[in-house]
Amino acid sequence: MDSKGIEAFLCTSGVTMGYLAGFHEEGGERLLTYAIRRDGSSRMICPALSRSQAERCGFEDIRSWKDGEEPLKLVQQLAEDWGLAGKEVAVDDEMRAAILLDLQSALSSTRFCAGQSTLSGLMRTKDAAEISLLKRAGAAADDSLAPVLKKIRPGITEWQVHEWLSEEMRSRDTMPNFCIVATGSHSAEPHHGTSQTQLSKGDVLVMDYGCSVDGYMSDITRTVVIGEPSEEQSKVYDVVFRAHMAARKAIRPGVAAEDIDRAARQVIDDEGYGEFFVHRTGHGLGMRIHEEPYICAGNKHRLEVGNVFSIEPGIYLPGRFGVRIENIVAVTEDGHESMNAEPSPHLTVVPA
Ligand code: ZN
Ligand code: ZN
Repeated sequence: MDSKGIEAFLCTSGVTMGYLAGFHEEGGERLLTYAIRRDGSSRMICPALSRSQAERCGFEDIRSWKDGEEPLKLVQQLAEDWGLAGKEVAVDDEMRAAILLDLQSALSSTRFCAGQSTLSGLMRTKDAAEISLLKRAGAAADDSLAPVLKKIRPGITEWQVHEWLSEEMRSRDTMPNFCIVATGSHSAEPHHGTSQTQLSKGDVLVMDYGCSVDGYMSDITRTVVIGEPSEEQSKVYDVVFRAHMAARKAIRPGVAAEDIDRAARQVIDDEGYGEFFVHRTGHGLGMRIHEEPYICAGNKHRLEVGNVFSIEPGIYLPGRFGVRIENIVAVTEDGHESMNAEPSPHLTVVPA
């Protein structure tokens, strides 16, 4: 905040408040903000209905408001107490537009800026305790797959697979966060919305899912085939697997994020599938599913020990099928370690 000339940071996201203060509450449409001043002092402004959680969390200066009262008065009081007129104030990138518009009109002489870049230097480098939580979340996602694969057969729906994976993750004392299950031509849509479509013999099945432990997330993608694969399905899987491993091999401190992306893309380009790899190779992950560093063309960020991100190249043949293989990795002094078990080098066959 000092180097950017930011006088105060107004956090409204449960992730930012969770990271900085262990407070994961969100106010939704109600104004709930953890305000931090450049000198280190802070104030919590929250709805009265969240006051006891805020007290339990240990905030010392709490100003609460009841429904029917005007929370912007508390913000104007804050601006007066901290002298925010004419100053720069950072806000969460995820702050609701309606709340930011209210703040802007209540504090008309204050300049607002996006705050995530101020935090990302801290958040993208994980310490040992954070990495151990990420590993637990990764292991739970890994271990959830085998029991589900045993139950998969033609006629089962995508939604059923979603439910089984979620139950398995929950049974391992984690919180399931998301689960994409895409069968057949749906697998060619990287962010397919899981549906009631039935699995059929010959389908490629992509499962991209994750859970969290104390707020730290996992994110894994595995691709299998129902019954014997076609030659092309096996080939595309092989290309994606080699792209995944090429990116992994390139990871070490000091390498630019864009070079990791290029390592994966090169393998897919060389095999003639370049136009079907339609997204970046990976994204940082921690308490957010997507955060810095982004592993994509143009990102010159040099990897640092403790950076955690996904490696998830994919090939998507529209209307036919797609393959993606995703692990989460942490940069170490001499390369990286994976938060997930290693993916199979060959397309796993689920008996039809
Ligand atoms: Zn994923
Ligand atoms: Zn991912």
